[in-house]
Amino acid sequence: MVTGGAGFIGSALVRRLVADGETQTLNFDALTYAGNTHSLPDPRTTQRYRFIKGDIRDHASLSSAISAFKPDIIMNLAAETHVDRSITGPQAFIDTNIAGTATLLEAARTYWEALDDTRRQSFRLHQISTDEVFGSLGPTGRFSETTPYAPNSPYSASKASADHLVRAWHHTYGLPVLISNCTNNYGPYQYPEKFIPRVIVNALAGVDIPVYGTGENVRDWLFVDDHVDALLAVAGRGEPGETYAIGASEEHTNIDIANRICALLDEMRPRGSGSYADLITHVTDRPGHDARYAIDATRARRELGWQPRKTFETGLRRTVSWYLDNRHWWAPLLDREV
Ligand code: NAD
Repeated sequence: MVTGGAGFIGSALVRRLVADGETQTLNFDALTYAGNTHSLPDPRTTQRYRFIKGDIRDHASLSSAISAFKPDIIMNLAAETHVDRSITGPQAFIDTNIAGTATLLEAARTYWEALDDTRRQSFRLHQISTDEVFGSLGPTGRFSETTPYAPNSPYSASKASADHLVRAWHHTYGLPVLISNCTNNYGPYQYPEKFIPRVIVNALAGVDIPVYGTGENVRDWLFVDDHVDALLAVAGRGEPGETYAIGASEEHTNIDIANRICALLDEMRPRGSGSYADLITHVTDRPGHDARYAIDATRARRELGWQPRKTFETGLRRTVSWYLDNRHWWAPLLDREV
């Protein structure tokens, strides 16, 4: 059972699960502005996939979905995820990311406690979290599983709170949970409010490409399908009660990424005159903008045998090419009222 499976990462996970064909997958998603059924298989075309429009804050509908579907594992990707939105409207982040996770934990616990011994032992609840819970790094060092939490934005604070709840449900009730904290993802089907698709769609529209401040903020970037590999490794082979830091050690500044995307577009879809990079515009920085995130994924690599398959160069090329070929997916989102 995947919650939030109509979003960017959740839909990549659902597509993989359905394509691999060995599992039954239930996608439970509220279809907020960020959820999109066009990113997903059609449930009418396969027996292996079901969709329920439901809200993780709604205990009754969650419980009835769980007791009808009887999952072996619940992977929670349902969340409000855009930092800028968390600054202008934090309440939705508190409601879904904190209260929603608590509601899910309680629904899962009730279900898990009633399972027979064998299924109780193999059940897992996997909370998908972010490296942003660790705060901001200086020029050196990397986050790992032992880094103390120090979230700085309403988004990261809500995700940190959720992680604490998940941990507490393990220690207090014995619920077999897993937590993974991943770096920034990029790839196909990402909502165009996020940085990489924003650069691509603005460039193609010939409008300003906004870059916060000087553009020197550093993020560690992971191709979304590599994150899906990591999620399946954590869910399948992770130790209950443990957390796993996931990242590709691909650190890049925002301004470097904007320039690389413009160079790829210059090559793949040349403008009439000049470079797309001429559209890059520095705008007032986000309040409290974290300087640098980077993950040390040694544990996931060593204990789970996970490793990313795409370099940033190949992943970015694939992403730009996908947005060029799939305007029908993203163009309607630009006009959507949210
Ligand atoms: P997204 O915003 O693209 O999708 C979120 C999904 O959750 C949407 O389908 C939305 O409809 C659904 N949703 C929101 N509120 C809900 C609710 N109350 N009940 C049920 N469904 C609800 O997010 P994403 O980028 O795919 O991120 C998924 C998870 O991964 C999040 O928990 C996020 O914190 C985490 N994460 C994301 C990144 C990243 O770079 N995108 C990196 C690390 C971790």
